[in-house]
Amino acid sequence: MAVEQTLILIKPDGTHRKLTGLVIDRLDASGLDMVGAKMVSVSEKLAREHYKALSEKPFFPNLIKYIRGEFHGFKDHRVLAMAYRGENAIAKGRAVAGATNPEHASPGTIRGSFGRITTAGQFENVLHASSDEADAVREISLWFKPDELLKG
Ligand code: UDP
Ligand code: MG
Repeated sequence: MAVEQTLILIKPDGTHRKLTGLVIDRLDASGLDMVGAKMVSVSEKLAREHYKALSEKPFFPNLIKYIRGEFHGFKDHRVLAMAYRGENAIAKGRAVAGATNPEHASPGTIRGSFGRITTAGQFENVLHASSDEADAVREISLWFKPDELLKG
């Protein structure tokens, strides 16, 4: 099994609803090691870069507002960014999160328990977890400087 790193973000609905500790607890239980963590004030530029593969989607403008905390009253645009390392870290992070659409996410996953779809159709699903190795490498280098991560 490969040792990987993955990016986890506690999105603004997660911090607003005080789910930060729960997410960290589930990731601890999955056996992964936290190797970086910081509160980030998410700029429009960072949000657009993070989600650039989705820039043509109809939900993109609301997604940028959502990840910047504009739906949850966070004028400081707060997101908790974390990097985790371990065997199959990417799949483990996704398993803790559950399916993208909260209605399809299994009960017991974070998104299955706490995600919702707003009346405007935005999926508010508590956390981000990198979806594959290329995304994980790209996203970690976008959110963290090398010296902000513990070395393996
Ligand atoms: N999203 C949405 N509607 C959709 C698909 C995605 O609101 O139909 C949002 C949702 O917050 C999701 C994010 O866009 O987490 C990124 O989408 P992606 O397909 O990358 O899902 P993820 O990797 O987060 O599971
Ligand atoms: Mg994704």
